[in-house]
Amino acid sequence: MRSHLLNAATAESYRRSVTEGVDRVARKLATARGPFTGVTPAELAPVVDAVDLDKPLGDASAALDELEDVYLRDAVYFHHPRYLAHLNCPVVIPAVLGEAVLSAVNSSLDTWDQSAGGTLIERRLVDWTAGRIGLGPLADGVFTSGGTQSNLQALLIAREEARLGRDGRPGTDDLAKLRIFSSECSHFSVQKSATLLGLSRDAVVSVPVDRDRRMQSVVLAAELEACRAEGLIPMAIVATAGTTDFGSIDPLPEIAALAAEYGAWMHVDAAYGCGLLASPTRRHLLDGIERADSVTVDYHKSFFQPVSSSAVLVRDGATLRHATYHADYLNPRRALAEHIPNQVDKSLQTTRRFDALKLWLTLRVMGADGIGGLFDEVCDLARAGFELLAADPRYDVVVEPQLSTLVYRYVPEDVTSPEDVDRANLHARKALMASGEAIVAGTKVDGRQYLKFTLLNPETTVADIAAVLDLIAGHAEQYLGENLVHA
Ligand SMILES: *Cc1c(COP(=O)(O)O)cnc(C)c1O
Repeated sequence: MRSHLLNAATAESYRRSVTEGVDRVARKLATARGPFTGVTPAELAPVVDAVDLDKPLGDASAALDELEDVYLRDAVYFHHPRYLAHLNCPVVIPAVLGEAVLSAVNSSLDTWDQSAGGTLIERRLVDWTAGRIGLGPLADGVFTSGGTQSNLQALLIAREEARLGRDGRPGTDDLAKLRIFSSECSHFSVQKSATLLGLSRDAVVSVPVDRDRRMQSVVLAAELEACRAEGLIPMAIVATAGTTDFGSIDPLPEIAALAAEYGAWMHVDAAYGCGLLASPTRRHLLDGIERADSVTVDYHKSFFQPVSSSAVLVRDGATLRHATYHADYLNPRRALAEHIPNQVDKSLQTTRRFDALKLWLTLRVMGADGIGGLFDEVCDLARAGFELLAADPRYDVVVEPQLSTLVYRYVPEDVTSPEDVDRANLHARKALMASGEAIVAGTKVDGRQYLKFTLLNPETTVADIAAVLDLIAGHAEQYLGENLVHA
């Protein structure tokens, strides 16, 4: 069994084994005819269940053969140009190379004595990102597992700052008094964080959006005033820079002004929109983000990085102390005095992957403009897709995209009931997925069923979008034809 340990004696077998795995994935990528086979859980579950985990196969080739049946053949492939569903990007090769290196070396980024240079590389990338945002000289941050964790940490810091009192305002130990303001289109991790942080059930005030799905700052102002009048404390305002459903960007300068006026922590959730930080042409869409107290970025969404790669940044690095706890075995206070850099002092995690390496290699090979240029391409594609949808009488499209998302629905020519239109759209999405020809997402808008393209693949063309729209219309029409008697 020792032959399976990665060490000096097995370096050659490591090379062979990983190369074989890479070969198989490369073949899959080269030959996948669609993003998915359309397999159902009922079809796949027995195959996975049939594997006897107590009877090992003994060698990697056999395990890879088996993996073909239980995973590789039916996986959902994000590199395929007709994968148009969620915020999953095709990944860039330098980042995948980084992934291979980081898992083999297996650094853990909690302490210097488990990572050495990895600690410094992560710090450089945190500084680089904070610099692109414009957070100023005291900024700091840390890599996280994803936007959900970044939002949780940002709101934890905001809660602690509110307890202490900010800008000369009194603090409180009454958590029930704290309020978080975010738009009705903000990510559900805001609500989840509020619960985890022990805030009251109605701590998150949902602020309505305008026609473009951006937070209405006039309503926000009124809600803040009401909050103050009731003797409650506006703990944080979460501005979303790229809503998950629409890619809409909240009015950051107006929100920053209100946050300053009411002494609220301003958090910008740029999990999706962070790609604009590298964009050669669209950086201005994030104007105002430099006034944030904290920012969430998901490199695994718009920087074409493999999952996971994410970070939380703060304007004042000292506020990261709210996540600092000392253990004699790991990060004793003494280490601070010796100026040994320990990232664990800034993180909610302890053992932590060296995800930063992927972004490092990406920037060293492609550069920021290279990544930002790819993100620009998908934003351009979304614009072209919007024009296609707007001109197509079969479809109703919700908003002109700021980023790379299109929300639309099929609308039949002869009007049926709204419920039938909902069902036809839902059916079309499922039928398309089952066919394996393309995958699109769905969401609700004002209570009605809509479909969604999240475009993150620069290889997707306008022709792909047109073809998928034809497929969707075909499925929807067939459904209506079979299930309805037209008047
Ligand atoms: C995706 C997303 C999140 C959550 O990020 P994960 O990396 O999936 O945890 C948070 N906020 C927004 C706006 C997102 O789009």
